[in-house]
Amino acid sequence: MNLLNFNCVKKREPIIDWFHLETNCLDDKIIAQPNRNVKHIFTRAEFVTKNVRSGQQTCKIDKNNLGNTTVNVSTIRTWKYKILNIVKKLISGAGMKHRILNCMHLIHSGSADIKRNSKTGKAYYSGISVCGSVWLCPVCSSRIAQGRREELGLASKSGMMPVMVSVTLQHYRNDELKKLLSVLNGSLRELKQGNWWKSFIKRYGIKAHVSSLEITFSERHGWHPHKHILLFLDVSDGEKDLKALKSELIQRYTNLVSEKGGYASDFHSIDVTACSDNINGYIAKWGLINEVANAHIKVGRAKDSYSPFQLAEIAGAGERWALVAYLEYVEATYGKKQITWSHNARKVLGIGKEKTDQELAKEHESLDDEIILSIEREQWKRVLRNGVQGELLELAEKGGDGAVISYLAGLDPGTTNYNY
Ligand SMILES: [Zn+2]
Repeated sequence: MNLLNFNCVKKREPIIDWFHLETNCLDDKIIAQPNRNVKHIFTRAEFVTKNVRSGQQTCKIDKNNLGNTTVNVSTIRTWKYKILNIVKKLISGAGMKHRILNCMHLIHSGSADIKRNSKTGKAYYSGISVCGSVWLCPVCSSRIAQGRREELGLASKSGMMPVMVSVTLQHYRNDELKKLLSVLNGSLRELKQGNWWKSFIKRYGIKAHVSSLEITFSERHGWHPHKHILLFLDVSDGEKDLKALKSELIQRYTNLVSEKGGYASDFHSIDVTACSDNINGYIAKWGLINEVANAHIKVGRAKDSYSPFQLAEIAGAGERWALVAYLEYVEATYGKKQITWSHNARKVLGIGKEKTDQELAKEHESLDDEIILSIEREQWKRVLRNGVQGELLELAEKGGDGAVISYLAGLDPGTTNYNY
């Protein structure tokens, strides 16, 4: 076995036997009952009885009345890293260049550090590059979405009435995503220009708005780009007629869409929902973080409707149609903004200066956070070759440096899942 070379390693008993571990899951909480001296590692549900040698992640569930069932367990985080590695492979395989290829990969100086966030207790990598790509990177986009959701949470405290407007257009299997996005964005841009819009926002007391672009794909129906727009209404002079607001918007929007060669109707265009009572519920549905969570859990999604991350996963498994669609998505979203605030919205809503995606992707990092473990360049390459960045964070968080060292010791240095 190669000698491992780590900095900042505290002396700790090696963890030698992870075989035959079993966990009991009671509802959504797993209470681990490992044998021997590794009990301290297994304290949280999503962590795993990962067999270091086979890589199998399993737990035995005893769900009271459901009886014993064996299920695979993986965390959302390990899934995100898995997708990140797949996306890199798809993009480099297609000969495309994109900054995601260096994400969670390049070491800035000397080592990749695993740190623990002092507020959340979450382990994270420091000293390596992040791409800040909201469309392609499941790791960065989930951090960015978290930051954006926090901003929206602050906006909801402005005292104005939030109204959610969902905007889409009709689409067919062979419609190009680029064209659909151009019609959707172009129609909305024009909608918000000129005298019609000025009069509209004045009559309904709309003081600010923010929109989020999302894209899903269906094998049967093709691309489904849609926008969620949150309008903030000043209702200090009385309630507004949302039915009238909706019908005015539909009329104007459907005209603009057909002028641009697209299709929209009363049923495939705009929906309006007042969300003053449950804005946090609506905010939680925004952005790719929701797509990430749904994609991971794969529950409650329309059959045959995939998020871009799911599409990448299917493409990575060798489905040609998914690869073609995914690469089209990569090109069509290049340079596009996901979240757009109206002019002065942030001032009106009192939420300060907008942070860039890159800033949000690194916001969880702090110089003061404890370093759990530093991994030198050669060892880091081995981690990348095996595509186990997510697993390492799980281990570091739950079992500390000893768990990571033990895991790496059992990792095959010759595995070349990814070509780094
Ligand atoms: Zn990234």
